[in-house]
Amino acid sequence: MPDSPASASLGTHDVTNQPAPRGDLDLWAGDAALRAHARAAGADAALLGDFGAAIGTAEMRAAGRDANRHLPEFVPFDAAGRRLDEVRFHPAYHDLMRAGIGAGYAALPWEGAAGGHATHAAMVYLMSQVEPGVCCPMTMTYAAVPALRADPALLADWVPRLTARLYDPAARPLAAKGGATMGMAMTEKQGGSDVRANTTTAVPDGDHYRLTGHKWFCSAPMSDGFLTLAQATGGLTCFLVPRWLDEGRNAIHIQRLKDKLGNRANASAEIEYHGALGYRLGDEGAGVRTILEMVHHTRLDTAMAPAGLMRAALAEAHHWARHRSAFQKRLIDQPLMRAVLADLALDWEGALALGMHVARAFDGQGAEARAFARLGVALAKFLSNKLCPGVVYEAMEAMGGMGYVEDTPLPMLYREAPLNSIWEGSGNVMALDVLRAIAREPAALEVLIAEMKLAAGADTRFDRHLERIGWRIAEKRFSEADARQIAMELALGLQGSLLLRHSPGYVADAFCATRLEDGIGLAFGLLPDGLDEQAIVDRARPKLD
Ligand SMILES: Cc1cc2nc3c(=O)[nH]c(=O)nc-3n(C[C@H](O)[C@H](O)[C@H](O)COP(=O)(O)OP(=O)(O)OC[C@H]3O[C@@H](n4cnc5c(N)ncnc54)[C@H](O)[C@@H]3O)c2cc1C
Repeated sequence: MPDSPASASLGTHDVTNQPAPRGDLDLWAGDAALRAHARAAGADAALLGDFGAAIGTAEMRAAGRDANRHLPEFVPFDAAGRRLDEVRFHPAYHDLMRAGIGAGYAALPWEGAAGGHATHAAMVYLMSQVEPGVCCPMTMTYAAVPALRADPALLADWVPRLTARLYDPAARPLAAKGGATMGMAMTEKQGGSDVRANTTTAVPDGDHYRLTGHKWFCSAPMSDGFLTLAQATGGLTCFLVPRWLDEGRNAIHIQRLKDKLGNRANASAEIEYHGALGYRLGDEGAGVRTILEMVHHTRLDTAMAPAGLMRAALAEAHHWARHRSAFQKRLIDQPLMRAVLADLALDWEGALALGMHVARAFDGQGAEARAFARLGVALAKFLSNKLCPGVVYEAMEAMGGMGYVEDTPLPMLYREAPLNSIWEGSGNVMALDVLRAIAREPAALEVLIAEMKLAAGADTRFDRHLERIGWRIAEKRFSEADARQIAMELALGLQGSLLLRHSPGYVADAFCATRLEDGIGLAFGLLPDGLDEQAIVDRARPKLD
């Protein structure tokens, strides 16, 4: 309704100095660093171009907001009191799932095209910017495929549907579905990292097993099946527990949904198996080895997602700083704001480069690539997730009070920022995994060092960092208490090498000066003199915005 002449003359609601809505965003074309690192990793640029444009529209971003606002609802019973154990989602959630699954998020790496894992990883990065909650069910679906190789019959039944690029949320038996999703049920009350403490039991029943027990965290409980760890006679064993059987619902009861800090669009449940039918996957006693195939791949996504969250936060901060003025100057033109944004961009581009490079190793063939992927994914998951919350918070502050308000994506990104570190192996577990890998798999360490050395001689600060790593390895100081330090040094060394090789000189220069030299500041914006801050800020700026 137009203002009445009286209220217009009072001028109480003039909107000035507030950035306009960002409209449709092309998350691929507008991200120069993504294009560089995705190409270096062998990802499919054409496919990512389409996906980045489609997923960044104002409509998709509004769907992300809706899916976060309207939480999944647990529907335990039907009107007559019969068990349903369903979760009802807002239509926006289904739209996002359809967009991701339809574009090949879960399927691509298994379709045989070159660079499939790298392309998938870039999709995780893009999707995380729009709505990170839907990544969880799609990631588990992607990651279940290699674990299913432990059983040819299950592989034949399930993989065509998991990789069908068809989102079919209907609750019905697998045979009646064109597309399916998979979840994972490992964590119990008494232990998540230490899954050998699982007490859920599996008792043989004909050709299959009956599972009884409680799972303390089970995300995406509306999935069509769950890879589950349970104790069988031969020890901890992996099972595929379908949600539906031909004769009706399997005995999986949802107890309640977790009331989570973030990751709100996604449902995470406590569930119980009441003699639920399970198909054994792999040998009895080989449960950890079998499910680690899945966990290895979910770790790739949890290493990549923080780069996407950082990107989304930084892009919002850039938009704000370019269109808002204080003290007669745009924020982006204020030297101190420039220093902060440049500093933030270094962590983001480092995480992006590292994640994409590790994804490339998932596409590689042979023992060396596999050894490197195992060590690299632990390094990337550890470091990128440690950096993510700080970057998101600082980007929030760059937007002033509006960064704290739900009209912007910053609160959603902030709530999501710690999560990828917690699940699929929390920070300490990942750092200890790095130690184990370098102690037990010398090939992995050799490939890592060789990879870092590809940039030797390019920067004296990088060379000194390499030297320090060399001393530490020669001293064999691998005590558990040093694990975070070792993981951090190796991850930074690999990031440095990648930025020196694949990023503009001004980015690598600033990274080496501030991340590889002693005296890194305790806050962002403490860059030393002599760095090209303006160029770094320009590179991180969302183009076409
Ligand atoms: C939103 C959400 C969704 C989830 N969805 C699922 C799901 O779908 N399926 C599923 O199975 N699980 C799921 N989880 C559970 C998650 O994987 C676990 O919470 C995680 O593995 C940690 O286990 P925990 O909570 O038992 O913590 P603990 O294992 O008790 O760990 C607590 C802390 O101790 C540290 N720690 C552990 N061992 C050591 C050590 N040796 N030395 C030093 N420190 C150590 C850990 O790093 C961690 O910081 C989900 C969790 C969340 C938050």
